[in-house]
Amino acid sequence: MEYPGNLFVVAAPSGAGKSSLVKALLELDSHVQPSVSHTTRPPRGQEKHGREYFFTSQQEFDAMVAANAFVEWAHVHNNRYGTSKKAIEDRMSHGEDVILEIDFQGAVQIKNIFANAVCIFILPPSWEELRSRLERRGEDKPDVIEMRMKNAQVEVAHAEKFDFVIINELFDRALFDLKAIVHSQRLKFAAQRRARAETFKALHIP
Ligand code: 5GP
Repeated sequence: MEYPGNLFVVAAPSGAGKSSLVKALLELDSHVQPSVSHTTRPPRGQEKHGREYFFTSQQEFDAMVAANAFVEWAHVHNNRYGTSKKAIEDRMSHGEDVILEIDFQGAVQIKNIFANAVCIFILPPSWEELRSRLERRGEDKPDVIEMRMKNAQVEVAHAEKFDFVIINELFDRALFDLKAIVHSQRLKFAAQRRARAETFKALHIP
């Protein structure tokens, strides 16, 4: 499937800094819109329905799967998460760029459907640093941290399927890398021809 907007997919093990990087990018770049996923997990803390996620019952999720409403969905940490067609197609068909923050299983499904999707994997600089970030975050009990560390090894093993890798050692450097990927995508010939149609016409470039 092809749309005028670009589709960016960001995956990472938890603690690698994916959400902070995407949030910082969204604050700097109003042409990128986040996609709001559906999930069967309950809301945490200050999360609001329709902002972080659409919090969905198992039955509603089943109905959406049956109605073919998702472009991808996956089981992650015992819950189901999915990107609805509606969440991305409206925006991309209007030429907006959309960014998905999803797990590696979802990223692989997206790449199969949208061959032009730009898949970015965020790595921690080391296992020790990932562990200490999870500990510093203070959100999880030791057994949950162990589970996240195990899951992280599975996720990192899929990094080679991604187009780009960012090592999040220094936040500002990693953000610079993410902005560079987004920017370079917009400079591709086809994207420039869409965005600067008048200039291309005046230059007689078909
Ligand atoms: P959390 O519950 O901590 O917000 O997210 C858990 C994991 O699910 C994260 O790795 C997150 O990126 C992933 N995730 C969130 N939304 C989606 C989605 O729509 N599809 C897939 N495949 N994974 C998702």
